[in-house]
Amino acid sequence: MNGRTRSAARVKELEPAFQCPICGCRVMVIDDKSLICINKHTFDFAKPGYINLSVRPAKGPYTKELFEARRRMITESGLYAPLHERLASMIKEHTKSSAIPCTVADLGCGEGSHLYRILEGCDCPGMTGIGLDLSREGIVLASKRYPETVWIVGDLAQSPFADGAVQVILNILSPANYKEFKRILARDGLVIKVLPRTGYLKELRQSVFMESEKRMYRNDGTAALFQKHFHVLDTARLHYTKELNTGELADLVRMTPLAWSLGNKDIGAFIERESAVITVELDILIGRAPKPFDG
Ligand SMILES: [Zn+2]
Repeated sequence: MNGRTRSAARVKELEPAFQCPICGCRVMVIDDKSLICINKHTFDFAKPGYINLSVRPAKGPYTKELFEARRRMITESGLYAPLHERLASMIKEHTKSSAIPCTVADLGCGEGSHLYRILEGCDCPGMTGIGLDLSREGIVLASKRYPETVWIVGDLAQSPFADGAVQVILNILSPANYKEFKRILARDGLVIKVLPRTGYLKELRQSVFMESEKRMYRNDGTAALFQKHFHVLDTARLHYTKELNTGELADLVRMTPLAWSLGNKDIGAFIERESAVITVELDILIGRAPKPFDG
């Protein structure tokens, strides 16, 4: 079974969880190769096994090279291992009493490695992973690497999910669309947002960023906005360091678009070291959509 057929079969099993991103109508998989709505809007599954449900073309700064660096950093360096462990245990804890099957959607998933690692940590056969990102480059890599998950090129503002279709929404170090998150979140579903704190990758920022950019990771406003939209069930703060070697430091720069684009001599100095200790400081917010009577 090739990627296209496998992906079509998986989406067919989940048909009610999707809707047409253009008109919002029901969709169905036909001939193991396309998703079509009753108004005949048609989307084809691509050969590597993803589907492009984006309603607008996007050409961002995110290249294949950036995503390869991100994948190595996430799956090989161990820099995010404590985050993955924590998220997997939070998901298991909060979904243990809910009905199986459970759909976990990473919205803004990039090349999918965070979702892959988290699902691996959950080790729950009834859980289906779905990754969505506007970047086709990221989704192509994800579908080649992690064929057991559903991968979608799509827009957060006009997502292809039906109302109440997703049990767990993950949004990791990535922009959100809370209005859309609330629409697609199942009753009693969870939304888990990971956001950077001031210490996050501070060594990188102190080395290569301009003075004015060093404070870019203040997250007060983001956390407050989350609390305005969701009933916060739990929060956690992660603060740890990890020693990275030369190759890993270079990947850290490559996966950070701003640092990459600077191309200045400070980047050279940053990566031409045998190793460096890098700080990870993150907030994790777990919320549930408020019940109607919660206001
Ligand atoms: Zn349609």
